[in-house]
Amino acid sequence: MTSPPRRRKRGRAPLPEGERKDRLVQARVDEELDEVLRDAAKQQRVSVSQLVRNVLEDTFKLVDNVVADAAKLGAGVARDARKVAAAARGEPRDPLAGVAAWQEVVLARDQGCAQCGVAMKRGQPAMMGITDDPAATRPWLCTACAARL
Ligand SMILES: [Zn+2]
Repeated sequence: MTSPPRRRKRGRAPLPEGERKDRLVQARVDEELDEVLRDAAKQQRVSVSQLVRNVLEDTFKLVDNVVADAAKLGAGVARDARKVAAAARGEPRDPLAGVAAWQEVVLARDQGCAQCGVAMKRGQPAMMGITDDPAATRPWLCTACAARL
């Protein structure tokens, strides 16, 4: 059995090695799995306990990464579905809809403001749109439109 349950969320960064208070977890395994574990531990020159700990830590990190990637994928699919639905309804495309953040920049090339259409010249301050979609056209904003964000 285990010690009192931890109330930690999976995916949280583990404590530094020196601050960890190890807890004992026991599990019954059949003879064949016991042999596999002992052989694998011997091959990796670690104890069976360390091998099991490594496998458990790696597994939960992997699961957390899969869950995070799935959530990101789901958000991307939902965003794309909204774009397709809006296009199907004939709605005009919002050039700023996919912007996740704005970065203040000095223009290296002439650009047009995505909001008001004003021409911005090289060397002028502007805002660069950062989107989650690498294939999307990068939106630029003039400082006047950026002030109204
Ligand atoms: Zn503008």
